[in-house]
Amino acid sequence: MRIDLHMHSNCSDGALSPEKLVELCAKQGVGLMSLTDHDTMAGVAAAQEAAKAYGIEVIPGIEISTSWGLKGIHIVGLGLENNDELADFLGNVGARRLDRGREMAQKLEKLGISGALEGALSFADYPESLSRTHFAQWLWKMGYVSDFEEAFRRFLGEGRPCFVATQWPSVSSAVRYIVSHGGVAVLAHPGRYRLGEEWAIDALMDEFVAAGGQAIEVCSGSQSAQANVRFAQAARERHLLASTGSDWHSPLSNRPQPGDQPPLPHDLTPVWTAFGYAKELGD
Ligand code: AMP
Ligand code: MN
Ligand code: MN
Ligand code: MN
Repeated sequence: MRIDLHMHSNCSDGALSPEKLVELCAKQGVGLMSLTDHDTMAGVAAAQEAAKAYGIEVIPGIEISTSWGLKGIHIVGLGLENNDELADFLGNVGARRLDRGREMAQKLEKLGISGALEGALSFADYPESLSRTHFAQWLWKMGYVSDFEEAFRRFLGEGRPCFVATQWPSVSSAVRYIVSHGGVAVLAHPGRYRLGEEWAIDALMDEFVAAGGQAIEVCSGSQSAQANVRFAQAARERHLLASTGSDWHSPLSNRPQPGDQPPLPHDLTPVWTAFGYAKELGD
């Protein structure tokens, strides 16, 4: 069975509703899935309901935006409940996303690009989840960039002229929230972070583990094949559970579709075993 524990719906910056994403997972042969929207579990109940018709198992999920110094790091939480405590932990994330969007639009305006806030919002089905993805979609549609990636390279990526730093919860506090609420904390797409010095990723993993982090995304559709190999080795050395996910957002992306990311190496212990599923489920 194919397994995909990292995907997005239109409750954050994905293209499809949770129900349509489940339908796509069924077509793709995914039998165990997690919807991991950025900073919200709003779509999880709908995904669980839709999954019943296909016999697909759903582990509830979220991808929490965190800060590690000045760097943005994503922590996936699996097995959490969508409740008031989670809302308290996430705080006013919707308002912060809108404020940041306004500032990003001002920076784009200074470069001669007007109307970006309204434009980005027109792509966001839930304005409280306004994302850089929505800005990139609008910049692409308007012809300011010739592809989606270029929007991040030129304008929106960390350190680029329209990037606005946001203070998210710390890595440790997100990991502690997840673990103390019965979930499993997963360091998302570790190969994606450009942390500058070579030792920094080890320091990040040290801190993640010290806070109680149990798993690492070994296979991610949003990191390179070399990164998958490197972080498989990190999982072995640190005795971490291994997770896998396409990080799916859109059918237009050239990244893997649901379940299409590479399989986990056999010697690793998959993260789904923490939820009572057999290791062999992924074979
Ligand atoms: P935000 O949470 O609003 O800061 O937006 C971050 C989202 O932008 C990520 O979850 C990705 O979906 C997307 N993203 C960030 N960097 C890139 C990139 N270089 N190429 C494509 N998508 C990216
Ligand atoms: Mn995203
Ligand atoms: Mn991410
Ligand atoms: Mn993601």
